[in-house]
Amino acid sequence: MRPAGNWRTDVASPAPPAIAELRSAWTGEGARPHTSRGACPSTSGDLGRFRRALLRWYDQHRRELPWRKTRDPYRIWLSEIMLQQTRVAAVVEHYRIFLKRFPNVQALAAATEDAVLAAWSGLGYYRRARMLCQSARELVRMHGGRFPQTAEALQALPGIGRYTAAAIASIAFAEPVAVVDVNVERVLQRLTGIDLATPQTWQHARALLATSRPGDFNQAMMELGATVCLPRQPRCPSCPVRKWCVNQPSNFNQGANGTITMEGSAPQPGGTLTQPSSRRVKKEIWCVLNQRNGSIRLVQRPRKSQLMPGMWELPQLPQKRRPTPVRVVWRTFRHSITVTDYTVHVHRGRTARGQRIPVADISRFPLTGLTRKILKAASVI
Ligand code: SF4
Repeated sequence: MRPAGNWRTDVASPAPPAIAELRSAWTGEGARPHTSRGACPSTSGDLGRFRRALLRWYDQHRRELPWRKTRDPYRIWLSEIMLQQTRVAAVVEHYRIFLKRFPNVQALAAATEDAVLAAWSGLGYYRRARMLCQSARELVRMHGGRFPQTAEALQALPGIGRYTAAAIASIAFAEPVAVVDVNVERVLQRLTGIDLATPQTWQHARALLATSRPGDFNQAMMELGATVCLPRQPRCPSCPVRKWCVNQPSNFNQGANGTITMEGSAPQPGGTLTQPSSRRVKKEIWCVLNQRNGSIRLVQRPRKSQLMPGMWELPQLPQKRRPTPVRVVWRTFRHSITVTDYTVHVHRGRTARGQRIPVADISRFPLTGLTRKILKAASVI
């Protein structure tokens, strides 16, 4: 998981290039070229075949995900915000629960921030939930609860950048605007064999876009990057657009299972999902699980904390209060937040720290992801 920053590429770009300009860009003029040239979709006939091949593949092979069964802008918006910096598998269940509690923008706008954070609990990057609240309130106050129908107007809402606006506008309202996320960026880098700068990436995405089905085409490009054109081992033999790819399979080492290992000279995709291990920080913490008479002690993080402000967690034990010997530890958990890997020792015992919260009320409290993990392991939630 990428911790922060340009996961979605939200930067302005000029108008899309004409086909001749696309051809020039595709063949590497004025850019750093790769080792060979592919049969780029440089005529209108080629572009049409490229689009049809990709859309046909998407229609047949896409993953069935709940947000792909709707054109409701609220549901699409919610899925796009949840998917930022978060794996699809983690989002699916949260998406279902969140929609049950807040089925439309009016319900979200009327909710307290704590209630929204409680429903978001476990997804991480809680600033996203706060921005959702702000946007929902603004949508109700300024737009009567209706979403603006263009990417440009959507970007005026808090927390909606270029990528998210284009995704909502193209999927919900069929506006012919392209999206570029980290997957699309990688696909385009490999298709063209060029280390594309961000404006060029948006140009290529817009030039390729199938304007008859912009939402599906955008999702097809992202799906291709997520399931076939993988960061380390692209599955080129299964790729529906391989005939237009500069990095055709002859440029790769093919493994016995049909996967491809990138040559050292291949351009690096614009954003791999893993952090170099040397940049990760390790920390060890101790906390106490004090469960008695149907309640549990929790502490609220400071409202002004940089990390997870206002959320609830188990009381931590300062170093001098740590139990000895170590065998009194009930369980040890591993948990990662951005670049920090925590080892968390949980001791079952008494503490006077924090507030007693009835277990029956816990679902109303925004818990940190680590706290949810521990309480689940203890069968408290
Ligand atoms: S042929 Fe391979 S490298 Fe090229 S776009 Fe398809 S999966 Fe990616």
